[in-house]
This record gives sequence, structure tokens and C-alpha cells, in this order.
Amino acid sequence: MGTTTPAQRVLLGEDWRHWRVFFVRAHHRCLGSERPLPYSANRGKESVNRQALDELKQQIPLMGYLQAHDWQPARSLSRGRWMGLCPLHADHKPSFLVDPHKDLFYCYGCGRGGDVIRFAELYHQVRFSQALVLLRQWRGAGPLLDEAARFYGIQLERHPEAVAYLLQRGVRSPELIEHMRIGYAPGGCLRGWLTQLGYPLEALRQAGLVTGAGYDAYVRRIVFPLEGNLYGRSLSASAPPHRFLPGAKGGLYAWDQVRRHPEVILVEGLFDYAALWEAGFRNVTCSLGTHLNARQIGQLCDGPRTAYLAFDADTNGRGQKAAQSLARRLTEQGVKVRIASLPDGNDPNSFFVQDGNARQFQSLLEAARG
Ligand SMILES: [Zn+2]
Repeated sequence: MGTTTPAQRVLLGEDWRHWRVFFVRAHHRCLGSERPLPYSANRGKESVNRQALDELKQQIPLMGYLQAHDWQPARSLSRGRWMGLCPLHADHKPSFLVDPHKDLFYCYGCGRGGDVIRFAELYHQVRFSQALVLLRQWRGAGPLLDEAARFYGIQLERHPEAVAYLLQRGVRSPELIEHMRIGYAPGGCLRGWLTQLGYPLEALRQAGLVTGAGYDAYVRRIVFPLEGNLYGRSLSASAPPHRFLPGAKGGLYAWDQVRRHPEVILVEGLFDYAALWEAGFRNVTCSLGTHLNARQIGQLCDGPRTAYLAFDADTNGRGQKAAQSLARRLTEQGVKVRIASLPDGNDPNSFFVQDGNARQFQSLLEAARG
């Protein structure tokens, strides 16, 4: 057992052997002593340059990437390793082991492990080549997206059409606009601003902020910054209403501020979130659509809580069907679920825009079916 302490052996139990074998193997593979490439090239379309992979991994420490995706260590082990809840499956007691020095993880619950690239594959549920694209974007896009969001924020007050649209959607208070960092993309001026700041055009293209032909991708859109993405809501009826930049939509909106609440309200859209926040609800989060990704499910299941699903009451019943299927899934994971029924044809945003108030919404929650 070498240098393991008795406490570790107890903690790691029988699995310790697998863990060690796993690390030794992973380490060898990274060194390339077993195979010429750490990853079989046929997993991606083009052959993968090992040096480029090593560089990418050096630039994105696993621990930093995990924490940027809301992972929190629950307790420390020897030699700088950490244990926490697994972000890859609904984990109730910490089974996810991270070694920041080796840049490797292993989960005793779901048995999966590897490096930051493997984590990105599993976490975003994408293939190897797509995981590389996401990681490269993540490495390069953070400051760029922040700068774009800042620019859109400045544009908001300069464009009365944007302010008028926000008013019409019930977004009034400067505190809310600041809290959500809401901005406006008029189109045709982001590229100039960012290139003048020294960002290469190619970086703007890669982040999806600028089209292949060099035009601003978001035109006449209200913009909400997300983690690693920007959501754009079109003001024009002729354009697709909802857009994201390429890449994942990320986890639940503002989850860090919401997770401590024993009861959370989950809504579909950011304007629903905005309306509830403005009405004084602070335990609200948003899944950006009715389909939750694995990470969002994992977040809702990361502790004991009750989730109130306040999806749209569409006339075709789509929102309610989605809520029921999500409720089944969450209930299986031990989350208490209540489905709130809004008046027909309403979503939480229109409920408040049509003069609904916080007390009335609270009664809907209290009346929610289990
Ligand atoms: Zn796991």
C-alpha cells in the first residue's frame, strides 16, 4: 500500500486498488508508453496531435475546470487530493475523487474517470472531438464573452427599442438588469469593438460571436450572459426567437445563489426568472428550456430539497408534459417535486406582466400538486 494511511484505506476501501491501478494506467497512457497516442485517433475525425492535447490539458487544470462548473470539494484527502459529489451522476454521498497534481478524477459511484478531456466528454455528453472544441472555446472564450457582455450592457440604454421590449416583458428595475447583466446586441458593431480591443477576428468566429462572413451573429437581440455562453432573445418576429452561441447552455441559472434554499422554483425561460426575481422570489432558477441536461439534473439532485416546477401552461400541453416527465425523473432521484399549474396559456412571465402578484403566485405554489 506504500504511503497510504489507515484512514485512507478505510475511506477508499476495496476500491483503492482499482483507483491506484486506474491512475497508474492513466498515467502511462498520458506518457504514451503503451500506445503512440493517448487517445485513439479514430475517435476524432482528424488525427490528434498529442503535443497539442498535452498543451490543452496544461492550460486547463482539471480542478479549475471542475470548480468553474460548480463542483465543490467536500473533504480533503492526503497528498492534496479531494473528494466531493460526482457531477456525472446523481450522487448523495461524495464519491468523486480528484487528484489536482495528476489532473485526474475517478468516481466510485459510476466508475468513470480520466483527465479533463474525458470529463468534458462525459459532462457535456459529447464525443471526443467535440469535447476538444468545447475545451478550446472555454479556454479562449471566457474573457472574450465577458467583454462582449460588457459591450452589450452599454448598448442597452442607448437603444430605446430594447428598453421598450424589456418593459413589455416586465423587466423594469435597474437592480434586476444589473443582477442578470442584461444587454442588447444591436448588430453591426460588436466586431469592430472587440477587434479594436485586440481580439483576433478568428477568436470571435470561434466563439460564435461573429459569423463566418464576418458579421455580428446577434442582431437586435436582448442578451443574457450565462456561464460560458450568451443567450440572445430576438426582438424581430422574423428571426428565431431563442439563440445560444455554440457550446453547452451550462448548468441551472444562478445556481450558486439558489442551491442553499430548501425549496427552489424552476422555470423554463430567463424572462420567467426575471419576473419572479422582480416579484421578490430569490429561490428561483431557470433551465433554459424544458429539457434539462445531465448537469442540471445533477444540480437539482445535489441535496435534499423540494423543487417547484413552474413551466409554461401552453395550450398544447407541452410544458406540462415536460414538467411531468421531469418530475418522474427527479422523484426517482429522491427530490420532492411539486408541479405548479399556471392559468391556461400563461408562463410565469406573462402571469406577472398581466398583473399577477407575488401573493397570487405564492398561492399557486402552495396549491401545487405533488
Ligand atoms: Zn459518478
